[in-house]
Amino acid sequence: MIEKTHLQALSNIVGKDNIYDDKAHMIAYSYDATRTRFEPDAVVFPRNEEDVSKILKYCNDNRIVITARGAGSGFTGGALPANGGIILAMEKHMNKILEVDTENMVAVVQPGVVNMDLQKHVEALGLFYPPDPASEEYSTLGGNVSENAGGMRAAKYGLTKDYVMALRAVRTNGDIIRAGKRTIKDVAGYNVAGILIASEGTLAVLTELTLKLIPKPKFKKTYMGIFLSVDNAMNAVFKSLSAGANPVAMEFLDKLVIEALIEKLGVNLPKDAGGVLVGDVDGNVPEEVEFQLKTLEESFKENGAVEFRIAKDEAEEKELWYARRNASQSITIFGNKKLNEDISVPRSMLPKALEKIYAIGEKYNFKIPCFGHAGDGNIHVNVMIDISQIDEGHKCIEEIFQMVVDMGGTLSGEHGIGTSKAPFMGIAFNEQELQLFRNIKKAFDPNNILNPGKMGL
Ligand SMILES: Cc1cc2nc3c(=O)[nH]c(=O)nc-3n(C[C@H](O)[C@H](O)[C@H](O)COP(=O)(O)OP(=O)(O)OC[C@H]3O[C@@H](n4cnc5c(N)ncnc54)[C@H](O)[C@@H]3O)c2cc1C
Repeated sequence: MIEKTHLQALSNIVGKDNIYDDKAHMIAYSYDATRTRFEPDAVVFPRNEEDVSKILKYCNDNRIVITARGAGSGFTGGALPANGGIILAMEKHMNKILEVDTENMVAVVQPGVVNMDLQKHVEALGLFYPPDPASEEYSTLGGNVSENAGGMRAAKYGLTKDYVMALRAVRTNGDIIRAGKRTIKDVAGYNVAGILIASEGTLAVLTELTLKLIPKPKFKKTYMGIFLSVDNAMNAVFKSLSAGANPVAMEFLDKLVIEALIEKLGVNLPKDAGGVLVGDVDGNVPEEVEFQLKTLEESFKENGAVEFRIAKDEAEEKELWYARRNASQSITIFGNKKLNEDISVPRSMLPKALEKIYAIGEKYNFKIPCFGHAGDGNIHVNVMIDISQIDEGHKCIEEIFQMVVDMGGTLSGEHGIGTSKAPFMGIAFNEQELQLFRNIKKAFDPNNILNPGKMGL
């Protein structure tokens, strides 16, 4: 519980309409997409960077724990106040697009801006902000930067980190720091912005982001390749990319997902399909798009594709994407609880990784339907269990993590570590590496008041 004197002091900073400690607010800010619950002691809505600075300094002096929060759509518990304290919620006031510099193709935003709002705003000006997590309609850019969010367009356009040119942030002692510049090139000093990206709110609170924009491509088409085995599909991923294909997205569905989509949603896919690749290609002239489609079709067929579909119009585009967009909800036919991880491997390891995941599933007698961002080597692994099998499920996940790390992969491609993957950090990093992380944390936040316990630190 936070003392009343602290609440009054924080209220003096932000005004009484921007701080709450009633039960309804505590419940509303106790969740994220993990559905785990931790109630904070208070929720505070800073109005600007100055408020953030004063709040952090006050909390640091009084050792009050703070968790910054965007939309609370994280999948690993990053925004959960696992140790109580206050939630610093960005969505109410710090949600403005401050500037779009069309000449330098740069947007300056506050962290609470919703991803899709920025996309729409810049597209009206002929520009493009590519990172598009599936949560784009509600997740915030501050949350996206703090998790280094990926999205459907990452295969061609990269991740959130590839668009962060500069940022402003507040340290726990109240210092406002600037990192990066509005320049394409900048090698002066340490890459502090790089350290803050994906730091899950453990080092500093982001207050302003300068994001790179690019011209919006003019033409786009949707394709789908159907394969009899997931192995063929996975080989086609890295072979088509090294053959020169540069799709915006290359998403995949495995045999179990295809089965579920047909059974639950009647999706139009062949019953004997073992793997599907679906995505978009784009370009500034139609010939560029045609070249991409031709390269993909040839390469897919060389790798065993039995069918290559190209959407003729918007309705067909939606139909091809429908399967991928509904993959997650369809697989509930395999179990009442889904343990969902987002491992990532070098793309050429995709066939081997999937083979081993299925073998681990057989050992534990769990179905493990997989889908995801094959073009990025990022697999959404879904261990389907009955709720009574949770301990076995976690052992199965641990084995998958170990296997993935052994083949040069990582625990998370985009969802981060938070609380849910914290116990597994020792699989991915040795003691010296973890100690370096702790030292970095200490340099930013010596009193450990910012999101303590996250990322296994
Ligand atoms: C249906 C669904 C689909 C999703 N699809 C994707 C996807 O395709 N790709 C993907 O990468 N993720 C995806 N996610 C996960 C999630 O949306 C992303 O991690 C997103 O970036 C979180 O943004 P948020 O605003 O909700 O942040 P929150 O969940 O509120 O916070 C996430 C982390 O960021 C920190 N944080 C937030 N704001 C600040 C700030 N101003 N300063 C410092 N730290 C801050 C928090 O402390 C926390 O650690 C999905 C989630 C859902 C529910």
